[in-house]
Amino acid sequence: MISVAIDGPAGAGKSTIAKAAASELGYIYIDTGALYRAVALACIRCEVSTGDEKAVEEMLPKTEIRLVFFNGVQHILLNDDDVSEQIRSEEVSMAASAVSAIPVVRAYLLELQRSFAQNADVIMDGRDIGTVILPNAQVKIFLTASPEKRARRRVKQLEEQGMEADFDKVLYDIVQRDYNDSHRKTAPLKAAEGAVTIDTSELTLEEAIDKVIETIKEKTV
Ligand code: C5P
Repeated sequence: MISVAIDGPAGAGKSTIAKAAASELGYIYIDTGALYRAVALACIRCEVSTGDEKAVEEMLPKTEIRLVFFNGVQHILLNDDDVSEQIRSEEVSMAASAVSAIPVVRAYLLELQRSFAQNADVIMDGRDIGTVILPNAQVKIFLTASPEKRARRRVKQLEEQGMEADFDKVLYDIVQRDYNDSHRKTAPLKAAEGAVTIDTSELTLEEAIDKVIETIKEKTV
């Protein structure tokens, strides 16, 4: 089995690029951020504060999260409810960043993530895939871009979805999430040893996809 780990900060294009590379190479794409988002949505729905570690821990046994694939597209189920759309809001993004710093949450999701790579060739994206989840992945990529570029892309994406977006607020949230993700004690965001760093700031989407595919091919021959 071949495992490709793609880590990097929010908005670097990981999911779009990983999805395209997986479809081109015939791998299964796993978006691990969706799992943290589902835990965050569970907190919001149960009115559990993401700052209250004990309450979050108590909620976990009642929180069933499953990843399923319909026609090759990943869907996320929270207690059998398909929440694939609901987990994409800014409110859930910030809550996901908060719950992801809680060690029991990371431990809860660890085996689930590893199990996906046991029976299939996967491209998994997240923050700690190359460092913690799949340390033996044959290919490790750290995908990054400047905060401004990432904020600009996010604003465009929100506007395309018909939502209002304020650049300064989006940039502030991105910087905040970067800080949370790279300063937490458990599994902080950082490039894994041996990872190939790809900065997409000056690349078009097509160029970034080609570069990732090229890197995977080089490492798996
Ligand atoms: O990738 P995405 O933005 O959907 O992830 C949401 C949040 O989940 C991130 O801000 C990060 O805090 C957390 N996360 C994580 N480890 C992963 C994937 C996501 O801590 N492997």
